[in-house]
Amino acid sequence: MTDTVHDARPATGATGDLVARHVTGRRFRMLVGGEFVDGDSATETVDPSTGRVLTEVPEASPADVGRAVAAARAAQPGWAAAGHAGRSAAFERFARLLEAEAEDLAVLEAIDSGNPVRAMRQDVAISVAYVRGWPGMAQQMGGQVIPASPDGLHYTTSAPYGVVGRITAFNHPLMFAATRPLPALITGNAVVLKPSPQTPLTTLRLAELFAEAFPPGVVNVVTGGADAGDALVTHPDVKRIAFTGSVPVGLLIQRRAAESGRVKHLSLELGGKNAMVVFPDVDVAAAADGAVEGMNLTVCQGQSCGSNSRILVHRAVHDEFVAALAERVSRLRVRTAYEESADMGPVVSAAQLGRVTGFLERAVSDGATLVTGGDRPAGVPGEGFFVTPAVLTGVRPAMEVAQEEVFGPVVSVLPWDDYDEMLRVANGVEFGLTASVWTSDLDLAHRTAALLDAGYVWVNDSSRHYLGTPFGGTKDSGTGREESVEELWSYVEQKAVHVRLRSPRSVLDRRGW
Ligand code: NAD
Repeated sequence: MTDTVHDARPATGATGDLVARHVTGRRFRMLVGGEFVDGDSATETVDPSTGRVLTEVPEASPADVGRAVAAARAAQPGWAAAGHAGRSAAFERFARLLEAEAEDLAVLEAIDSGNPVRAMRQDVAISVAYVRGWPGMAQQMGGQVIPASPDGLHYTTSAPYGVVGRITAFNHPLMFAATRPLPALITGNAVVLKPSPQTPLTTLRLAELFAEAFPPGVVNVVTGGADAGDALVTHPDVKRIAFTGSVPVGLLIQRRAAESGRVKHLSLELGGKNAMVVFPDVDVAAAADGAVEGMNLTVCQGQSCGSNSRILVHRAVHDEFVAALAERVSRLRVRTAYEESADMGPVVSAAQLGRVTGFLERAVSDGATLVTGGDRPAGVPGEGFFVTPAVLTGVRPAMEVAQEEVFGPVVSVLPWDDYDEMLRVANGVEFGLTASVWTSDLDLAHRTAALLDAGYVWVNDSSRHYLGTPFGGTKDSGTGREESVEELWSYVEQKAVHVRLRSPRSVLDRRGW
């Protein structure tokens, strides 16, 4: 395990050139009311591939956050009045800017997050598709006419909350910054966006594109950690908070929102300990491919809320599956994230690396077997936060590694014999975000999908998100649903209007007609 190297010199060689081109000499500033601003203080961000400090970024004080909220509040009525057509036009401008800057954004993301650059190009492409997808979905948000009484007209309208606070996690910073504010924006809210302090650079780079695409104050970007997040959560003018992050911080936000003395609407997208269920009738090779993809190893080193970190495999195919999985996982090239050949990069920080290796050590001492991975790959920069992807077998349901979210490249395989017991194990965790079912039997697939306690279930597939379908979790995985019309509705207040209609006779009599 390594600590951060406080040395602003970039890495050398071709990768060092990339750091020089995409980071060095650039200023990363917050966006408040259409102006680029520094915070009251600054903090550093680190390249996980080298452990070196990349650059300084602003650290927003509560006063900085207050200025961003005030700017959003001032801009919001005009943005709401722009109507769907006006807002869609800004979305299209933003999509084009993203396309034009795609390569810079993907490389910068790989440098700051440690996610492999090839996958980050895909994240930019997905972001563009979401920017273009949301306006069409928002058009589906009609009102209702409800036959609530025989002599009345009862209908609904909706209006945006005003200012939305949007707090995001470290693992997909660019995609989160580019897409998570969109449903709030298309419904006429203004947004104050705060990324994770671990990976702030692409959000600050996107701030420049937000400034070009949207009217001043409609999108504001502040950087900082818990204090800046807390200032946003407790600000009296922020009625709606949308949070992506860990369970402990989600719980804290619920408490702090209540302590602010204002009634707020919260949505929380939190962690997962997601089960992949493998039946004995599968194509084992396809299931092993699906397991690797579903772990999101080649996108973010398994640091994903939706990763299938628990694989429940029928004993009849257990050994064959483990061999196929281990073979695939051990083939992945773990490299500096912005090398083209990298299948996987480093985890985000020294602390995260320690978390991953700590889970592995405790799993082995609890009796699990480390089949592959968990060590330092060859040929990577000495101070980078690298670990090879790990497969554990012999994991029992009660073990820590089978219950808690590692949020890293660690997958546990648990054998099963009995269907009911398998379901108990699959559902026997505090999380309920995603799950997947692997079988060629249609009845089993649908019945099992129905019985798994998770918000997003794949059959013979994994990992993919489909805009328009509600994404979110049960139990401690959160509240609310994203990526769907349901999410759009969560950014507006509905109003019911009741028109009492007098009888034609009483109108005619009164008017003397
Ligand atoms: P985290 O909870 O540590 O931080 C998330 C964000 O909250 C960051 O921006 C952080 O600065 C901010 N924050 C920290 N303390 C705060 C406070 N007191 N008040 C307000 N904001 C505060 O999470 P992380 O380590 O960045 O991300 C990993 C976690 O996120 C995992 O648990 C993962 O499962 C979850 N996650 C969930 C989803 C989803 O869609 N369900 C997606 C990605 C990540």
